[in-house]
Amino acid sequence: MSVSSLCSPVVAGLQPYVPGEQPRIPGLVKLNTNENPYPPSPRALAAIAQAAQQGLQLYPDPQSLALRETIAARHGLDVGQVFVGNGSDEVLAHAFFAFFQHAGAPLLMPDITYSFYRVYCGLWGIAAELQPLDAGLGIDVDQLAARSAQGACAGVVLANPNAPTGIGLPLARIEQLLQACPQRVVLVDEAYVDFGGESAVGLVARYPNLLVVHTLSKSRSLAGLRVGVAFGQRPLIDALERVKDSFNSYPLDRLAQAGARAAYEDEAYFEQTCRAVAQSREGLLLALEDLGFVVLPSQANFLFVRHPDHDAATLAAQLRERAVLVRHFARPERIAQYLRISVGTPAQCDALVQALRALV
Ligand code: PMP
Repeated sequence: MSVSSLCSPVVAGLQPYVPGEQPRIPGLVKLNTNENPYPPSPRALAAIAQAAQQGLQLYPDPQSLALRETIAARHGLDVGQVFVGNGSDEVLAHAFFAFFQHAGAPLLMPDITYSFYRVYCGLWGIAAELQPLDAGLGIDVDQLAARSAQGACAGVVLANPNAPTGIGLPLARIEQLLQACPQRVVLVDEAYVDFGGESAVGLVARYPNLLVVHTLSKSRSLAGLRVGVAFGQRPLIDALERVKDSFNSYPLDRLAQAGARAAYEDEAYFEQTCRAVAQSREGLLLALEDLGFVVLPSQANFLFVRHPDHDAATLAAQLRERAVLVRHFARPERIAQYLRISVGTPAQCDALVQALRALV
């Protein structure tokens, strides 16, 4: 993609995020972008329909107060400790701008993690300092903590469970980082935590430097609605509000506020679908191991796998020919032999395993 020579050098130098394929052909087994295979809660759908019928001619609540109150109550927090944005990608964008820019020092992150972090660094002019993963592709917290304790860093960002590996860190390791880096924000992106990870939201009261980011795109089946959440002490949330109100950045629309709120009010459905995904994940893991795949331990709604005898890019292309989509990252080199496979319904997982059986 070439850009106009009239662009600022920053834009000319950007390396934008490459999203996973959203296919136009219907009927594919879509296991490539970690969406939830189950539909949203019926209560969320009903609330969206109702919001569509009432009041769309009016602007939405700029503060999303009712939604934030519901989310705060769910986590035992105060409404002032909850921020919402249009997807967690937007929440992350505001957070990078609010906390990591102008620090005059690099932002620390694992070298393999959610690739959008590097994109935001490019956008906001933040230097990224990458800490290699350990031999098992886990986040090396000792290294990160030791480096952040030396000072001269803008903060730390990581995903827990990490993406695209799916490996989770116990809370004690998050606390280790928070304590090593008390003067800077430690941003913990918990996009996948509800599928079996340990959430740091309960630590918010104790750590003024902790910002936890959640999304409704995964465990609440609302990727199409675009709702993300941040949890932190009030001064951090106030900073995010200040950035949001200084941008275009519009509040959540009426449909999103209503649907997200109803999704949080249907805990039974949330727990049931998370459990179903976690169960399918364990079944899929065994089936893939049976086929000879090496599967990393996952606490997320996806598996990161490699086959010792088969090239990952070729396998992804062959699966595509058989109407099954999975994700392959050609870079970084260290993970180029892996496939990231989202956990589907039992029927989708079966279709994947059948297709693989013919290939490996
Ligand atoms: N964080 C991580 C680790 C992710 O994998 C994703 C999804 N690609 C996001 C954040 C963004 O999710 P959303 O913008 O849909 O909330």
